[in-house]
Amino acid sequence: NDRIYLQVNITRHGNSEHMFLVRDITRLHHLEQMRKDFVANLSHELRTPLTVITGYLETLLENSGEQPGIWQRALQQMDQQAGRMQHLISDLLLLAKLETTSHPSANNPVAVDQLLKSIKSDALALSAEKQHRISLEADSHIQLRGSESELRSAFSNLVFNAVKYTPEGGDIQIRWWGNEQGAFLCVQDSGIGIDRRHLPRLTERFYRVDSSRASTTGGTGLGLAIVKHVLLRHMGRLDIDSVPGKGSAFTCHFQAAQVVRAGGWGLEAGR
Ligand code: ADP
Repeated sequence: NDRIYLQVNITRHGNSEHMFLVRDITRLHHLEQMRKDFVANLSHELRTPLTVITGYLETLLENSGEQPGIWQRALQQMDQQAGRMQHLISDLLLLAKLETTSHPSANNPVAVDQLLKSIKSDALALSAEKQHRISLEADSHIQLRGSESELRSAFSNLVFNAVKYTPEGGDIQIRWWGNEQGAFLCVQDSGIGIDRRHLPRLTERFYRVDSSRASTTGGTGLGLAIVKHVLLRHMGRLDIDSVPGKGSAFTCHFQAAQVVRAGGWGLEAGR
């Protein structure tokens, strides 16, 4: 991937003179490649659930009414795959919206502790079968300026990923705190972890460590791309720390300028 792409234009001046114009189009080439990959990935992601749905529809049409068992199974599958497509389309629309502007859609102080409380209860419902222990420690004095709905999308993606990629009985810790350097959200799990070499590409659209597992975990492959964009718009960045087989920690770091300390600066606000 260290290749350089050059575009050469040769113009002739008179009989013996030629002008060479050499342009470095490496970046343009990479962008074009990323665009092609994106379209290919997207087509694949949309086609897979549709193939399952149409396959079951055909089965139903051929066996109209005779075997109730087939109907039950087919309807369940179609419902699940239609849900997957819906999820994918809403993530795509959100990403497209996030890419059109560089500022959050609102600039209100968001009570992150309350937001995390509600995300935690959604996560508990999602992880009921796996019996995770989910803990939340959040400083209620530290608020973040921005869009609550965008922050909800980003933070719930991190917490739901922790649920998806942590086996039964595992631990998930959610921590929110602030200091002179800014504010921090850390979502830590005792899950499957991620090999180092994948870390730099993890926030790319549709990048997955194990694509064969994607259909069972039910993700869209767009979650961390959404997280990255929402953080960028809120002057934040994402750090990922992970040990395969031990677990991962996703830490969002927001600059001090984006942080509001409720009750004034005199208040002692936790950690
Ligand atoms: P997906 O919808 O596939 O979960 P994401 O963009 O949210 O897509 O994440 C990209 C990939 O990063 C996932 O497919 C998974 O391989 C890996 N990943 C994300 N979060 C975790 C985590 N907490 N533990 C282990 N792997 C993770």
